[in-house]
Amino acid sequence: MIDLHTHSTYSDGTDPPADLVRAAYAAGLRILALTDHDCTDGLPEATATAVELRGLEIIPGIELSCEHDDREVHVLGYFLQTENAELQARLAELRQARLTRASRMLDKLDEIGKPLGRDRVAEIAGTGSFGRPHLARAMMEAGHVSSIDEAFARYLTRGKPAYVPRPRLSIPAAIALIGGAGGVASIAHPWGIDNLPGVLSVAAAAGLAGLEAHYGRYDARRVEELAALAAGHGLVATGGSDYHGANKPDVALGCADVPIGSVFRLRERAGR
Ligand code: AMP
Ligand code: ZN
Ligand code: FE
Ligand code: FE
Repeated sequence: MIDLHTHSTYSDGTDPPADLVRAAYAAGLRILALTDHDCTDGLPEATATAVELRGLEIIPGIELSCEHDDREVHVLGYFLQTENAELQARLAELRQARLTRASRMLDKLDEIGKPLGRDRVAEIAGTGSFGRPHLARAMMEAGHVSSIDEAFARYLTRGKPAYVPRPRLSIPAAIALIGGAGGVASIAHPWGIDNLPGVLSVAAAAGLAGLEAHYGRYDARRVEELAALAAGHGLVATGGSDYHGANKPDVALGCADVPIGSVFRLRERAGR
């Protein structure tokens, strides 16, 4: 079993990398990509744990939020050389922008009478990338909402009172950053992306390698349609669960059925 889309405590997942890797191994996974938002710092721990377990391969990955025609598109990167200086410099900038944005969102929550303790929010966020799910958890804990979904639906998504945008890369910039670090890029959870053909032509011109057809929450028909679209564009149909631990309690590790051939082809595209 394979899962190419997972988040740890180094971004907005709730499992530390070691726990995530042990849980993945116990669930029968033998190839796992850790794809934290804007952060590769969880990989040493994930890889060390996988070495202890033997028989589980970790693919070094990332998930980058991009802007396209004023819409958000997520780009996954795989087989990264994480020591790449340009990559790490950009990731550090993106993480800093997330902190600035979080601080502004906390101010907005104060203004609407839903205050959160800064220290507790920092504790929930831990190391790595700050994300809105951390705010959602803090809101739940403070009794402002009864679920993560409610926090997003009422306060944290675009158009809602506590939302603040953050700087995002263009799709070609994200693909170039990933490629510059020896990696290959795939468009994450593509269903529902406005003008997907337009996104694909821009991304393909920038060197896109894959399309995440096998996504945890997609039914068989949707997967089939997206896999056909990927094939039509000469792209690898990648896949994964988008596991976030307790921040997405209905999503299990390995819940997307990813064919081994996808990993072979992706690896080939990365020249590994
Ligand atoms: P951010 O990176 O701070 O922009 O937050 C985006 C993250 O929030 C992504 O990882 C999404 O998976 C997560 N997210 C977006 N909407 C929801 C929701 N309704 N419930 C739970 N998580 C969400
Ligand atoms: Zn996330
Ligand atoms: Fe995403
Ligand atoms: Fe994700």
